[in-house]
Order: sequence, then structure tokens, then C-alpha cells
Amino acid sequence: MHHIYQQLGVSPAVYSYGEKLLASLKERFEQIDSVAEYNQCKVLAAMQKNRVNATHFAATTGYGYNDDGRDNLERVYADVFHTEAALVRPQITCGTHALAVALSANLLPGDELLSPVGRPYDTLEEVIGIRESKCSLKEYGVTYAQADLKEDGSFDYGAIRRAITPRTKLITIQRSKGYATRPSFSVEQIGELIAFCKSVKPDVKCMVDNCYGEFVELREPSDVGADMVVGSLIKNPGGGLAPIGGYICGSRECVDRCAYRLSAPGLGQEVGANLGLMPALYQGLFLSPTVVSGALKGAVFAANLYESLGFSCVPNASEPRHDIIQAVTLGSREAMVAFCKGIQAAAPVDSYVTPEPWAMPGYDDEVIMAAGAFVQGSSIELSADGPIRPPYAVYFQGGLTWYHAKLGILMSVQKLLEAGLIRLP
Ligand SMILES: *Cc1c(COP(=O)(O)O)cnc(C)c1O
Repeated sequence: MHHIYQQLGVSPAVYSYGEKLLASLKERFEQIDSVAEYNQCKVLAAMQKNRVNATHFAATTGYGYNDDGRDNLERVYADVFHTEAALVRPQITCGTHALAVALSANLLPGDELLSPVGRPYDTLEEVIGIRESKCSLKEYGVTYAQADLKEDGSFDYGAIRRAITPRTKLITIQRSKGYATRPSFSVEQIGELIAFCKSVKPDVKCMVDNCYGEFVELREPSDVGADMVVGSLIKNPGGGLAPIGGYICGSRECVDRCAYRLSAPGLGQEVGANLGLMPALYQGLFLSPTVVSGALKGAVFAANLYESLGFSCVPNASEPRHDIIQAVTLGSREAMVAFCKGIQAAAPVDSYVTPEPWAMPGYDDEVIMAAGAFVQGSSIELSADGPIRPPYAVYFQGGLTWYHAKLGILMSVQKLLEAGLIRLP
């Protein structure tokens, strides 16, 4: 084993250090495996109930009327998430698009949107109109209110109660911290928040941005009262095989509106050819629980390894996980570059490329990104990125297999060591 790792660029010292640490993670990994096992069964049960067969993998083109493969995939998603309906489409281009559809379909002029968990994900700021943008909800007369989290990251129920008004139509709850420093929320916490909001205003709709959270726990937010759960297929539920797409699972009423918004009023879910993507979307969902477990093991391994090297990690080495994101505060530009070089060097695609900090549109600071993915921009595949600014944190996620995630993390340590930025204890 030393030999094959050495061939890939990991020194025997780094490999042995990793192995020693891994020995202490046996129990954590067993827990992750048992969640994956449960979720695998959940996905299989949904596929069996809906009698998935080869006819569902056929390509359709044009309008896509009577696309049974597409319609059945939506029934499978609805059963996995225990919802009345689902919209799962390659025409949903990304997570932001899915969220924008869900919001704009279910908010009308004069309505108010409330985020009870602080600022939403960066790209949603323009969807909502927190940052001025053409076609934002704000332009259409939908207002936005926000209740910030308390200092310790918990819900500020007093502030939330005050923020709910007769105009509050929809509440948006982001499960994952995304690129913020707040904690991610457990499904149980989300359930408590939804119950509270509905106790204040029983007819309010609750939407959960489920990005990076699918199959991390036994339950999904739709099991604890969410009217809609929304996510991207090039993250967890696509299992690395979906080349594009997004999903919205929820009540028939909410999902119907989303379908009319996505295509056109009157057309709804009836149109939208599958373009031959059904095999990837079905098989990706089938693999997703296992893929997510590999990514989670990578995140837990990284937190433990980097904490032992003296870096602070969110979540920390021992905390329970509610999504697949791992933040590591590296403290310098040089360390961020070295970390990303390691991740890149471990990739199956573009491993020979050297990542460099770069000025990117939409960001104030330079950004560094490492990704060597089969699907461009896929973040269920092993990837790392971060803005070059204090505290110099990288956000690390994904890995289609645990062994690839492990190699990436070991390579990142190797590059930090070679740059003289760390010493092994
Ligand atoms: C990734 C992500 C999004 C947006 O998804 P894109 O596919 O990048 O548009 C929204 N919310 C959260 C929490 C995310 O992690």
C-alpha cells in the first residue's frame, strides 16, 4: 500500500500518519455506513414500488409528451422524499435555478419571503433582490425579511415571531451552511423551526434549500413538515452520474405551481423531453447514498487530520454531520494554494493542472478552486475552493469514492509539508 501511494505522490510518512488517525475513526465510519445502508434501502423501495424497468431509460425529444421515464423518476423521487409530488428535470439547470423556480412560483406580488436563518446562499441574493438584479423577486413586488441567528448559531424564536406578518407567504430555510461560518442544521432542528413557524402562522409555506444535505441523515426535511425540498442533481442526489438537473419535491399544490413556472402556465409537467438522460438520473439516485457516505468519510477524515495538525475546522473533528461540506481554516494564502494543489493532483481528470488564485466575476476577492471532475462544476465530486482573504479558509467537499477522497486529503497534507507550511507531529 505504501508503494502505490508513493507512486501517486504521497510519502510513507504522510500515509502512515493518515493510517494512524484512521484507526481512531472506525466507529464514526460504521455510523456513516449504517445511514447509507438505510438510505440505500429507501431508494430501492421507491424504485421497486414504481416498477422501474428498461422502458423508463428510453430517450425522448421534442415536447416530451407522455415521457414515462421522466414521469416515473418523479414518482420515485416523491417516494424517496415522502412527498405528494416531485419535479425532477434536466431543464432545471442548477440548484439556484431550482430554488428560483420554487420561490417565484409560490410568491405573488405583495407577498413576503422570510429567511429565519440569516442571509441565504450568495446566488440567492440576486434571485431575491437583496443585491439588485434584473428579474429579481423584488422587481416583481415580493418583499424579503430576515431573522438572524443568535450569536451561538441557534434560532432566534423571538425575532422570527416578530418577523412573521400577515404578508409572510413563504419561509426559506437553508439546511447547509454553504460558504458561511454558521453551523448546518440537522433535520430535527429544521423540523422544530418549521413547527414553530406554522404555530405562528398555520398557512405559511416552508421551503428547505436541501443542497449538500441529501442522504446525510436518515430523514429529509420533507419528513418533518417542509412543503418543498429543493436541490441540485450535480450535488448529492445525482450520485455523480447526473450531468445536469435539479429537483423540487413537495406538496402537489406547490410542485404544480413550480411546473407551470418552469415550463409555461397550462403546460406544467406535461412537457420537457428527457434527452436520453434517464439512465444517468436513475442510476445516479441509486448510487447516491453510497457516494454521499464516501464524501462524509472524507469530510470526517479531513477534519480529524487537519485538527491534529493545529488548524481549526467547521464542523470540528467530533461534531455530528448534517451536510458534506468541510471548512478548514488554513491561515494563509500559501497554505490555501498548497491544499488546493493537493486536491487537484489527486483528481482522475485534469490532475496535471496547477490551480492558481484568480479574480472571478461576482467575487470581491481572488478565489482559488481545485476540481478535476467528470461533470464540470460538480461538487459531489472531490473539490475545494475558497476566497483568498482572512481567515484563509478552504471549503472542501465531495468524492465519488471514499478512497479518492482519502487520496485527495493525503495529497493536500503532502503539498503543505513540501511547501514547509506544516510539520507532522
Ligand atoms: C450549491 C448551493 C446552492 C446553489 O446551487 P448551484 O447549483 O451552484 O446553483 C444553493 N444553496 C446551497 C446551500 C448550496 O450549497
